[in-house]
Amino acid sequence: MPRALITGVTGQDGAYLSQLLLDKGYEVYGLLRRSSSGDVIDERLRWLGIAGRVRMMDGNLIDLSSLLRLLQEVQPDEVYNLGAQSFVKTSWNQPLLTGQVTALGAGNMLEAVRLAAPKARFYQASSSEMYGLIQEPVQSEKTPFYPRSPYAVAKLYAHWMTVNYRESFGLHASSGILFNHESPLRGIEFVTRKVTDGAARIKLGLASELPMGNLDAKRDWGHARDYVKAMWLMLQQEEPDDYVVATGRTVTVRDMCRIAFSHVGLDYEEFVKVDEAFMRPAEVDVLLGDPSKARAKLGWTAETSLEDMIKEMVEADLARHRARQR
Ligand code: NDP
Ligand code: GDP
Repeated sequence: MPRALITGVTGQDGAYLSQLLLDKGYEVYGLLRRSSSGDVIDERLRWLGIAGRVRMMDGNLIDLSSLLRLLQEVQPDEVYNLGAQSFVKTSWNQPLLTGQVTALGAGNMLEAVRLAAPKARFYQASSSEMYGLIQEPVQSEKTPFYPRSPYAVAKLYAHWMTVNYRESFGLHASSGILFNHESPLRGIEFVTRKVTDGAARIKLGLASELPMGNLDAKRDWGHARDYVKAMWLMLQQEEPDDYVVATGRTVTVRDMCRIAFSHVGLDYEEFVKVDEAFMRPAEVDVLLGDPSKARAKLGWTAETSLEDMIKEMVEADLARHRARQR
């Protein structure tokens, strides 16, 4: 039975990846950071019906000794480093914590793998945010990076450390440069989930408006369930490498609002209000990925359209609010 260790197992991608690996017959171990909300921390795994099947291990990305112990104990075949302070806006309020977790946390994981389980294959969750102020209209593995937030700067460090450990120590370390991916399990602070939750609340009479930031930003949005397949495929390749994972279509936040509200029969323009509080000190105006390499080498393509994904998210938020009302 192959064995995988996932950091960030309680997050969106950690949940979908756990489900994928369990379905493939893996033994799945997850890094769990201690929290006072221990009873709800595995909510996403419970949503997918797999909470009891992931073996939780106590540790923290900023505590190298905990990672070394974990790697020694578990001796995984595959390590997926998904743990991060992952919200861009928060990274301006907590820039150094973001650096400790998102940048140095990845460095800690690479060190732990190198010292305690050097044969394990390693996946780093890199991000399209690294392109930031885009240097090419369509971003591929060859496009230069220009990070625009402390989060993106931290991800760039983690990305290059992954490349460097591959080149310096021969680790089977791959980096997936994933464009935004969403699902009903997306954190509520991210724009798609905020909008699907807002549309559901307004439809049910629980709210009357939705304050939002920059509606003109454009993103290449895919479904997390599809994107975790690309992570797994990267670690099945003989050679480690870096891959862009994207849909190849970009849409404005405004159009995404239109899709979500129209699904519940509402006109977004009546409810969405622009509020300065949600603007950012520096914006990433547009992202559009070129997934040709992932398609050619991994045989991967995005399967879910933005419309179908937003519909699924709105339905899930309606169901959540209805359940709370009962
Ligand atoms: P989430 O924010 O949903 O999950 C982040 C995870 O990291 C959570 O499990 C969280 O634990 C964990 N974590 C945070 N701090 C620590 C720490 N100090 N030690 C250990 N674990 C910690 O992110 P996603 O699932 O959406 O994303 C997964 C990864 O992919 C992240 O690295 C993200 O930056 C990256 N990424 C995501 C994209 C997206 O569109 N979703 C796009 C590109 C990259 P807890 O539950 O305790 O908070
Ligand atoms: P990001 O691409 O990782 O920053 O993902 P987000 O989902 O947080 O944001 C995507 C885009 O939506 C960014 O350009 C934001 O500026 C824009 N946006 C507009 N209004 C909002 C909002 O109210 N919340 C969030 N999170 N983003 C918003």
